[in-house]
Amino acid sequence: MLVIGLDVGATKVAAGLGRADGTILERRVIATRRLDPDRLLDDLGELVADLHRSGPDAPVNIGIGICGLVEPETGRVARSIALGWSEPFALRDALTRRTGCRVLVDNDVNAGALGEQRWGAGVGVDDFVYLSVGTGIGAGIVLGGRLQGGASGAAGEVGHMVIDLRGRPCRCGNRGCLEALASGQAVGEIVTAELASGVAASSSLATIAASGRAITARDVFSAAAAGEPYACDVVRRTGEYLAVAVVNLVNLLDPRRVVVGGGLTHTGHLLVDAIREALGRWTACGGDAAKIVLPAALGEDTGLRGAMAVALQGTPGAA
Ligand SMILES: [Zn+2]
Repeated sequence: MLVIGLDVGATKVAAGLGRADGTILERRVIATRRLDPDRLLDDLGELVADLHRSGPDAPVNIGIGICGLVEPETGRVARSIALGWSEPFALRDALTRRTGCRVLVDNDVNAGALGEQRWGAGVGVDDFVYLSVGTGIGAGIVLGGRLQGGASGAAGEVGHMVIDLRGRPCRCGNRGCLEALASGQAVGEIVTAELASGVAASSSLATIAASGRAITARDVFSAAAAGEPYACDVVRRTGEYLAVAVVNLVNLLDPRRVVVGGGLTHTGHLLVDAIREALGRWTACGGDAAKIVLPAALGEDTGLRGAMAVALQGTPGAA
Protein backbone atom coordinates (compact mmCIF):
# COMPACT_ATOMS: atom_id res chain seq x y z
CA MET A 1 0.00 0.00 0.00
CA LEU A 2 1.31 3.43 -0.99
CA VAL A 3 0.47 6.78 0.61
CA ILE A 4 1.42 10.41 0.09
CA GLY A 5 2.42 12.59 3.03
CA LEU A 6 2.38 16.39 2.88
CA ASP A 7 4.13 18.18 5.74
CA VAL A 8 3.14 21.83 5.51
CA GLY A 9 5.32 24.13 7.60
CA ALA A 10 5.65 27.90 7.68
CA THR A 11 8.77 27.91 5.49
CA LYS A 12 8.66 24.68 3.48
CA VAL A 13 6.36 21.95 2.28
CA ALA A 14 7.86 18.43 2.35
CA ALA A 15 6.04 15.88 0.23
CA GLY A 16 6.71 12.16 0.06
CA LEU A 17 5.43 8.99 -1.48
CA GLY A 18 5.90 6.05 0.84
CA ARG A 19 4.89 2.59 1.87
CA ALA A 20 2.76 1.57 4.85
CA ASP A 21 5.90 0.36 6.64
CA GLY A 22 7.10 4.00 6.72
CA THR A 23 9.67 3.73 3.94
CA ILE A 24 9.88 6.93 1.90
CA LEU A 25 10.28 6.17 -1.81
CA GLU A 26 10.18 9.66 -3.33
CA ARG A 27 10.51 13.13 -1.81
CA ARG A 28 9.97 16.70 -2.88
CA VAL A 29 10.54 19.95 -0.99
CA ILE A 30 9.26 23.39 -2.01
CA ALA A 31 9.06 26.77 -0.30
CA THR A 32 5.70 27.47 1.36
CA ARG A 33 3.59 30.17 -0.26
CA ARG A 34 2.00 31.59 2.85
CA LEU A 35 -1.03 33.88 3.27
CA ASP A 36 -3.18 32.66 0.36
CA PRO A 37 -4.69 29.16 0.89
CA ASP A 38 -5.54 28.82 -2.81
CA ARG A 39 -1.88 29.19 -3.79
CA LEU A 40 -0.90 26.53 -1.28
CA LEU A 41 -3.64 24.32 -2.68
CA ASP A 42 -2.21 24.76 -6.21
CA ASP A 43 1.23 23.73 -4.94
CA LEU A 44 -0.11 20.69 -3.06
CA GLY A 45 -2.07 19.60 -6.16
CA GLU A 46 1.12 19.86 -8.26
CA LEU A 47 3.17 17.87 -5.71
CA VAL A 48 0.54 15.11 -5.61
CA ALA A 49 0.42 14.94 -9.42
CA ASP A 50 4.22 14.85 -9.59
CA LEU A 51 4.48 12.02 -7.04
CA HIS A 52 1.80 10.04 -8.90
CA ARG A 53 3.82 10.39 -12.11
CA SER A 54 6.77 8.73 -10.42
CA GLY A 55 4.84 5.79 -8.98
CA PRO A 56 1.29 4.62 -8.59
CA ASP A 57 -1.30 4.47 -11.39
CA ALA A 58 -4.29 4.65 -9.04
CA PRO A 59 -5.00 7.51 -6.61
CA VAL A 60 -3.44 6.90 -3.19
CA ASN A 61 -4.47 8.16 0.24
CA ILE A 62 -3.04 11.54 1.19
CA GLY A 63 -2.20 12.63 4.74
CA ILE A 64 -1.48 16.24 5.61
CA GLY A 65 0.23 17.56 8.73
CA ILE A 66 -0.10 21.34 8.78
CA CYS A 67 1.01 24.06 11.20
CA GLY A 68 -2.41 25.31 12.27
CA LEU A 69 -5.50 24.56 14.30
CA VAL A 70 -7.26 21.69 12.48
CA GLU A 71 -10.64 20.06 12.95
CA PRO A 72 -9.65 16.48 12.07
CA GLU A 73 -13.29 15.39 11.59
CA THR A 74 -13.87 17.88 8.78
CA GLY A 75 -10.30 18.46 7.59
CA ARG A 76 -10.84 22.19 8.00
CA VAL A 77 -7.99 24.44 9.08
CA ALA A 78 -9.72 26.79 11.53
CA ARG A 79 -6.78 29.18 11.50
CA SER A 80 -3.01 29.21 11.19
CA ILE A 81 -0.94 31.96 12.74
CA ALA A 82 2.22 30.51 11.14
CA LEU A 83 0.70 30.60 7.63
CA GLY A 84 -1.08 33.91 8.19
CA TRP A 85 -4.58 32.41 7.75
CA SER A 86 -7.18 34.01 9.99
CA GLU A 87 -10.21 32.54 8.18
CA PRO A 88 -11.16 28.83 8.11
CA PHE A 89 -10.15 26.88 5.00
CA ALA A 90 -11.68 23.52 4.00
CA LEU A 91 -8.35 21.96 3.01
CA ARG A 92 -9.48 18.32 2.95
CA ASP A 93 -12.45 18.90 0.65
CA ALA A 94 -10.54 21.25 -1.65
CA LEU A 95 -7.63 18.83 -2.17
CA THR A 96 -10.02 15.88 -2.55
CA ARG A 97 -11.82 17.70 -5.37
CA ARG A 98 -8.54 18.55 -7.05
CA THR A 99 -6.85 15.14 -6.84
CA GLY A 100 -9.63 12.55 -6.55
CA CYS A 101 -7.74 11.03 -3.62
CA ARG A 102 -8.92 10.33 -0.07
CA VAL A 103 -7.42 13.13 2.05
CA LEU A 104 -6.97 13.29 5.83
CA VAL A 105 -5.70 16.37 7.67
CA ASP A 106 -4.33 16.98 11.15
CA ASN A 107 -2.00 19.50 12.70
CA ASP A 108 1.73 18.89 12.34
CA VAL A 109 2.38 18.01 16.00
CA ASN A 110 -0.49 15.51 16.13
CA ALA A 111 0.86 14.06 12.90
CA GLY A 112 4.27 13.70 14.58
CA ALA A 113 2.62 11.81 17.45
CA LEU A 114 0.93 9.45 14.97
CA GLY A 115 4.27 8.87 13.23
CA GLU A 116 6.02 8.07 16.52
CA GLN A 117 3.11 5.78 17.47
CA ARG A 118 3.32 3.83 14.22
CA TRP A 119 7.08 3.70 13.59
CA GLY A 120 8.97 5.41 16.42
CA ALA A 121 9.26 5.77 20.19
CA GLY A 122 5.52 5.21 20.72
CA VAL A 123 5.33 1.74 19.14
CA GLY A 124 3.41 -0.59 21.46
CA VAL A 125 2.73 2.22 23.97
CA ASP A 126 -0.94 3.06 24.52
CA ASP A 127 -0.39 6.17 26.66
CA PHE A 128 2.26 8.69 25.67
CA VAL A 129 2.80 12.37 25.02
CA TYR A 130 4.78 13.56 22.00
CA LEU A 131 6.28 16.93 22.94
CA SER A 132 7.50 18.92 19.95
CA VAL A 133 10.00 21.69 20.72
CA GLY A 134 10.84 23.76 17.67
CA THR A 135 10.13 27.35 16.65
CA GLY A 136 6.96 26.83 18.70
CA ILE A 137 5.94 24.15 21.20
CA GLY A 138 3.03 21.72 21.04
CA ALA A 139 2.09 18.21 22.09
CA GLY A 140 0.24 15.26 20.65
CA ILE A 141 -1.51 13.30 23.40
CA VAL A 142 -2.17 9.59 22.88
CA LEU A 143 -4.32 7.91 25.54
CA GLY A 144 -5.68 4.39 25.31
CA GLY A 145 -3.98 4.14 21.90
CA ARG A 146 -5.96 7.06 20.49
CA LEU A 147 -4.81 10.57 19.65
CA GLN A 148 -6.82 13.06 21.72
CA GLY A 149 -8.23 16.05 19.84
CA GLY A 150 -10.35 17.61 22.58
CA ALA A 151 -13.63 19.41 21.94
CA SER A 152 -12.31 21.54 19.07
CA GLY A 153 -9.09 19.82 17.97
CA ALA A 154 -6.95 22.07 20.18
CA ALA A 155 -5.89 19.52 22.83
CA GLY A 156 -2.15 19.50 23.38
CA GLU A 157 -1.53 23.25 23.04
CA VAL A 158 1.00 22.98 25.83
CA GLY A 159 3.06 25.83 24.39
CA HIS A 160 0.60 28.12 26.14
CA MET A 161 0.71 26.31 29.46
CA VAL A 162 1.80 29.04 31.92
CA ILE A 163 5.09 28.10 33.58
CA ASP A 164 6.03 31.45 35.14
CA LEU A 165 3.26 33.91 36.06
CA ARG A 166 5.65 36.85 35.81
CA GLY A 167 7.66 35.52 32.89
CA ARG A 168 8.27 36.93 29.41
CA PRO A 169 5.24 38.06 27.39
CA CYS A 170 3.91 35.50 24.87
CA ARG A 171 2.43 36.25 21.45
CA CYS A 172 -0.91 34.90 22.76
CA GLY A 173 -1.20 37.82 25.19
CA ASN A 174 -0.35 35.95 28.40
CA ARG A 175 2.94 35.93 30.27
CA GLY A 176 5.33 33.12 31.02
CA CYS A 177 3.89 30.56 28.58
CA LEU A 178 6.17 27.58 27.93
CA GLU A 179 6.58 28.73 24.33
CA ALA A 180 7.76 32.19 25.47
CA LEU A 181 10.44 30.58 27.64
CA ALA A 182 11.69 27.43 25.95
CA SER A 183 10.83 27.42 22.23
CA GLY A 184 13.48 27.88 19.55
CA GLN A 185 12.26 31.40 18.95
CA ALA A 186 12.35 32.21 22.68
CA VAL A 187 15.88 30.83 23.08
CA GLY A 188 17.10 33.03 20.23
CA GLU A 189 15.39 36.11 21.67
CA ILE A 190 16.51 35.49 25.27
CA VAL A 191 20.14 34.97 24.25
CA THR A 192 20.11 38.01 21.96
CA ALA A 193 18.80 40.18 24.83
CA GLU A 194 21.29 38.78 27.35
CA LEU A 195 24.25 39.28 25.02
CA ALA A 196 23.10 42.86 24.36
CA SER A 197 23.24 43.48 28.11
CA GLY A 198 26.87 42.35 28.21
CA VAL A 199 26.50 38.75 29.44
CA ALA A 200 29.05 36.21 28.12
CA ALA A 201 30.96 38.83 26.14
CA SER A 202 33.75 36.38 25.28
CA SER A 203 31.50 33.59 23.95
CA SER A 204 31.27 32.61 20.29
CA LEU A 205 27.61 33.64 20.45
CA ALA A 206 28.67 37.19 21.33
CA THR A 207 30.89 37.15 18.22
CA ILE A 208 27.92 36.12 16.06
CA ALA A 209 25.73 38.80 17.64
CA ALA A 210 28.44 41.43 17.05
CA SER A 211 28.45 40.52 13.34
CA GLY A 212 24.82 41.62 13.17
CA ARG A 213 23.31 38.19 12.46
CA ALA A 214 20.35 37.13 14.61
CA ILE A 215 21.19 34.38 17.12
CA THR A 216 19.20 31.18 16.57
CA ALA A 217 18.53 28.28 18.89
CA ARG A 218 20.68 26.18 16.55
CA ASP A 219 23.64 28.51 17.26
CA VAL A 220 23.07 28.09 21.00
CA PHE A 221 22.84 24.30 20.84
CA SER A 222 25.94 24.08 18.61
CA ALA A 223 27.89 26.21 21.10
CA ALA A 224 26.61 24.05 23.97
CA ALA A 225 27.66 20.90 22.12
CA ALA A 226 31.16 22.43 21.89
CA GLY A 227 31.08 22.92 25.67
CA GLU A 228 30.72 26.70 25.91
CA PRO A 229 29.66 27.43 29.51
CA TYR A 230 27.16 30.21 28.72
CA ALA A 231 25.43 28.17 25.98
CA CYS A 232 25.36 25.14 28.30
CA ASP A 233 23.67 27.30 30.93
CA VAL A 234 21.00 28.42 28.41
CA VAL A 235 20.32 24.78 27.48
CA ARG A 236 20.12 23.92 31.21
CA ARG A 237 17.54 26.68 31.78
CA THR A 238 15.55 25.63 28.70
CA GLY A 239 15.51 22.04 29.94
CA GLU A 240 14.33 23.23 33.35
CA TYR A 241 11.30 25.04 31.91
CA LEU A 242 10.43 22.00 29.81
CA ALA A 243 10.82 19.79 32.87
CA VAL A 244 8.14 21.86 34.64
CA ALA A 245 5.83 21.16 31.70
CA VAL A 246 6.72 17.46 31.74
CA VAL A 247 5.90 17.20 35.47
CA ASN A 248 2.56 18.92 34.85
CA LEU A 249 1.79 16.55 31.97
CA VAL A 250 2.81 13.50 34.00
CA ASN A 251 0.62 14.55 36.93
CA LEU A 252 -2.31 15.26 34.62
CA LEU A 253 -2.15 12.31 32.24
CA ASP A 254 0.05 9.58 33.77
CA PRO A 255 1.67 8.70 30.44
CA ARG A 256 4.04 5.75 30.07
CA ARG A 257 6.41 7.85 27.96
CA VAL A 258 7.07 11.50 27.11
CA VAL A 259 8.68 11.54 23.67
CA VAL A 260 10.57 14.76 22.92
CA GLY A 261 11.06 15.80 19.29
CA GLY A 262 11.06 18.94 17.14
CA GLY A 263 13.76 21.19 15.71
CA LEU A 264 15.63 21.71 19.00
CA THR A 265 16.28 17.95 19.24
CA HIS A 266 17.67 17.49 15.73
CA THR A 267 21.25 18.34 16.69
CA GLY A 268 21.65 15.70 19.40
CA HIS A 269 20.40 14.71 22.84
CA LEU A 270 21.40 17.86 24.73
CA LEU A 271 17.83 19.01 25.30
CA VAL A 272 16.48 15.64 26.39
CA ASP A 273 19.47 15.27 28.75
CA ALA A 274 18.78 18.74 30.20
CA ILE A 275 15.12 17.88 30.83
CA ARG A 276 16.05 14.61 32.54
CA GLU A 277 18.72 16.31 34.62
CA ALA A 278 16.29 19.00 35.84
CA LEU A 279 13.64 16.41 36.70
CA GLY A 280 16.12 14.41 38.74
CA ARG A 281 17.39 17.51 40.52
CA TRP A 282 14.28 19.19 41.79
CA THR A 283 11.29 16.95 42.13
CA ALA A 284 10.79 14.11 44.56
CA CYS A 285 9.26 11.97 41.84
CA GLY A 286 11.56 13.48 39.20
CA GLY A 287 13.77 10.41 38.98
CA ASP A 288 10.77 8.36 37.90
CA ALA A 289 9.66 11.07 35.48
CA ALA A 290 13.16 11.30 34.01
CA LYS A 291 13.04 7.60 33.14
CA ILE A 292 10.00 8.04 30.91
CA VAL A 293 11.41 11.02 28.95
CA LEU A 294 13.08 9.89 25.75
CA PRO A 295 14.00 11.33 22.37
CA ALA A 296 11.72 10.98 19.35
CA ALA A 297 12.90 8.22 17.03
CA LEU A 298 12.01 9.66 13.61
CA GLY A 299 14.28 12.72 13.82
CA GLU A 300 14.10 15.14 10.92
CA ASP A 301 11.61 12.91 9.08
CA THR A 302 9.02 13.21 11.86
CA GLY A 303 6.98 15.74 9.87
CA LEU A 304 6.87 13.79 6.62
CA ARG A 305 6.39 10.36 8.17
CA GLY A 306 3.83 11.89 10.52
CA ALA A 307 1.86 13.09 7.50
CA MET A 308 2.11 9.57 6.04
CA ALA A 309 0.78 8.21 9.35
CA VAL A 310 -2.17 10.60 9.07
CA ALA A 311 -2.89 9.07 5.63
CA LEU A 312 -2.80 5.57 7.17
CA GLN A 313 -5.32 6.34 9.94
CA GLY A 314 -8.05 3.74 9.95
CA THR A 315 -5.77 1.10 8.43
CA PRO A 316 -4.21 -1.76 10.44
CA GLY A 317 -1.16 -1.01 12.58
CA ALA A 318 -2.36 1.82 14.80
CA ALA A 319 -5.44 3.85 15.60
ZN1 LIG B 1 1.12 31.91 25.13
